[in-house]
Amino acid sequence: MSNLINKLARAELVDMVPYQSARRLFASGDSAQANSKIWLNANEAPGKGKYQVSSENINRYPDFQPNNLLKAYSNYCGLERSQILATRGADEGIELIIRSFCRAYQDSILICPPTYGMYAISAENHGAGIVKVPLTADTTLDIEGLKQQVGKVKVVFLCSPGNPTGKLLPKAQIIQAIELFKDSAMVVVDEAYIEYTGEFSPEQTSTSLLTTYDNVIVLRTLSKAFALAGLRCGFTLANTDVITLLSKVIAPYPISAPVAEIASLALTDDLEKMTERVTTCNGIKTDLSTWLSKQGWCSEVFASDANFVLFRCESASEKTRIFELLLRHNILIRDQSKQLQLENCLRISIGSAQEITQLKEVLS
Ligand SMILES: *Cc1c(COP(=O)(O)O)cnc(C)c1O
Repeated sequence: MSNLINKLARAELVDMVPYQSARRLFASGDSAQANSKIWLNANEAPGKGKYQVSSENINRYPDFQPNNLLKAYSNYCGLERSQILATRGADEGIELIIRSFCRAYQDSILICPPTYGMYAISAENHGAGIVKVPLTADTTLDIEGLKQQVGKVKVVFLCSPGNPTGKLLPKAQIIQAIELFKDSAMVVVDEAYIEYTGEFSPEQTSTSLLTTYDNVIVLRTLSKAFALAGLRCGFTLANTDVITLLSKVIAPYPISAPVAEIASLALTDDLEKMTERVTTCNGIKTDLSTWLSKQGWCSEVFASDANFVLFRCESASEKTRIFELLLRHNILIRDQSKQLQLENCLRISIGSAQEITQLKEVLS
């Protein structure tokens, strides 16, 4: 950076490392390059939807919250429209929540690592503090640890199913956390992968808790089970007061017209395709987990309620060998070994049956 920019920039941003997203680590490049690789590092769903968009009203600004989209998601999740905010991916929801509840350089968020990286990045960008209460060895919440932070944080991020752990948090623990913080902090349940657990079963999703508690927010996305990561569309679900607050902070036209159009179709006409995609993925995931557990270099396979499998290698050198061997064959997976408690761990996103077969062949 030039001297001037260094001097003018917020000092804490000068040395900050941005989120190392799968696409920043390995850019997809042009479509020929993109198609020459097998992408199993960003938990995207395989398969391409075909959508026709209309440019009829493209000279007009879209509605703040496009009608068809809100109606479609309301039907899908069973909440009122006033309890839903459509955003530019769930990532924007994370950022809005932090900006709406945390005063910069005064308030803090709480995270439970190993967890999704964007909570900490968004907090850092905004100048919010970060308190860590790691998950226990069996990847559940440390309730005693959480208790000690009551009154010290404004937002608690829980990821269920967890990324990169893959596991749903026990519903009873989520309720305990919400109870603990009911007078002092919002509890965000990030359900980016909830469809892989059976979205409509009330035991899994935390949306049912919105009627009992004021301090609950649920995050959803179309990037995973709906196979629309390129669209950038997510949803923040909460009681009306929270949605009203977040609506003061979000950009004036957060959802572009083509995005609203495609997302609405995915949530109505293509809903069945999503369920089929999830069923197929879960079958491949079970097979891959079994296969991994039989490999000599694999010492642990984590149970997964999501669209990926996390596993541990026998040693750091085995981890590097596996990762690089796949890379040489143009198969990209994600190294999670720098995360707390995840030494020597790698994560494979469940791609198509053919892609996973190819991966197994390379590793055999
Ligand atoms: C992928 C992911 C997100 C981000 O979703 P987008 O809608 O693509 O921004 C949020 N949380 C978790 C846990 C994720 O894995």
